[in-house]
Amino acid sequence: MTQPWRTLIPWRNRTEVYWECRRCGTTVDGATEECPTCGSAQIARYEMS
Ligand SMILES: [Zn+2]
Repeated sequence: MTQPWRTLIPWRNRTEVYWECRRCGTTVDGATEECPTCGSAQIARYEMS
């Protein structure tokens, strides 16, 4: 009874991260630091799990 349960539980790594422009609301790629639509550098980072 010494088996660690952590290795038995199939942890799901489904955390999705995406970025969205705070100015115009455009969802941008993670590699982009500036909004391709309006050029704003204020990109909000969201995590969806
Ligand atoms: Zn924008």
